[in-house]
Amino acid sequence: MKRENFSEWFNQILEKAGILDIRYPVKGLYVWLPYGMKIRECVIKIIKEILENHGHEEVLFPLLIPEDFLRKESEHIRGFEEQVYWVTRGGSKELNVKLALRPTSETAIYPIVSLWIKSHKDLPLKIYQIVNVFRYETKHTRPLIRLREITTFKEAHTFHRTFEEAEAQVKEAIEIYKKFFDRIAIPYLINKRPDWDKFPGAIYTIAFDTIFPDGKSLQIATIHNLGQNFSKPFNIKYEKVDGNFEYVYQTCYGISDRVIASIIAIHGDDRGLILLPEISPYQIVIIPIIYKESRQKVLNKAWKIYNLLKEKYKIYIDLREDETPGSKFYYWEMKGIPIRIEIGPRDVDEGVVTIFRRDKMERIKVRDEDLENTLKDMMNDIYKNLRERAWKFLEENVVRIFRIEDIREGYINEISLCGKDSCGRYIEEKTGLRVLGEAIEKKEDGYCLVCKERTDKIYRVAKSY
Ligand SMILES: [Zn+2]
Repeated sequence: MKRENFSEWFNQILEKAGILDIRYPVKGLYVWLPYGMKIRECVIKIIKEILENHGHEEVLFPLLIPEDFLRKESEHIRGFEEQVYWVTRGGSKELNVKLALRPTSETAIYPIVSLWIKSHKDLPLKIYQIVNVFRYETKHTRPLIRLREITTFKEAHTFHRTFEEAEAQVKEAIEIYKKFFDRIAIPYLINKRPDWDKFPGAIYTIAFDTIFPDGKSLQIATIHNLGQNFSKPFNIKYEKVDGNFEYVYQTCYGISDRVIASIIAIHGDDRGLILLPEISPYQIVIIPIIYKESRQKVLNKAWKIYNLLKEKYKIYIDLREDETPGSKFYYWEMKGIPIRIEIGPRDVDEGVVTIFRRDKMERIKVRDEDLENTLKDMMNDIYKNLRERAWKFLEENVVRIFRIEDIREGYINEISLCGKDSCGRYIEEKTGLRVLGEAIEKKEDGYCLVCKERTDKIYRVAKSY
């Protein structure tokens, strides 16, 4: 089901696992449910921690952007023009200056930062925010993947003295996202987007792409070197050591709700979500198997284990009496809880517990005294297993292709291309797929598939979301 009919599977999981309610009556807008919010919080915590460790500080800018700000950088507005929602009235009064709902926040942040930065001592400046942004998507919308309100938009903005420092920041951003995606066990390929597909206003864009179970690629992070393209129109200048003034060099980079879409799509299976211990709202759920005559001794043991583990793990004890153990198993499997501990009357008599592991669907019996060590090892092994499984799937779906007619939908195709726009465009036209860009961490000698020029560049081509 997951592989064959991915879209249907995905929407069902969102509903059944309690992540989103997708019935909100505005296209492209969805409702986050309590369980979904808990997962989202865990993910946000990780990205915040990594950004702060790399010297970024959190800020919060307004949602509304005055029209003249938004229009200051001409390529930027051209890129976003058709996607902007406008606020034109306050009550019944027409506004003098139209206000845009931010489609991204460069043009909200930069005019204010231009007031903050005075001297070379103020640089580098690295800030980020996690906000919602609005885009009037005309393509088919999908929960967490293509939204009109992106609810979890993490955008970082950095300001530097020189182009070289901005280049170094791009490299740091790549490291930040590698750490982040490694931590949540999402595999990725890093591609430098072709010129026609870069962020509006950027010098160039580097993207992290992953692959979904249906063989389509999904962009999960982008990093942009903005050069001085924004600092000039927004007048962000600093005084150099020699007393002259210079425009700053900038980068920005972001991730979105697609991170959570990837966690669901890539790790999940036909029974539902499979969550890593670190991003699961509960790492362990205890299910006492209650019969009338043994009720008290089973509950005693369940609470004893709960108290033993509660300081170390996010743990929940499911005491519902109107549900059978079987339906509880099904329920927590759907929610992706990494480990469940089942305690029945015989387990109490034998001094053991039954541990079930969601990623492998395996059940083992463990002696009470071995429980803590077993859990510790198992948590690490779940992370390792999910990460290996996800990378293996990605690697199996990347194919090296030597003839245009062999380029296939449903895979990420790696081909030799010289890098000229015309050759890339030709591939897109001929195959109907998207050129994701140049692999920045892979080179191989060959000939451009289109113009036959010698090249060591590898380009990736796929059907993408
Ligand atoms: Zn070529």
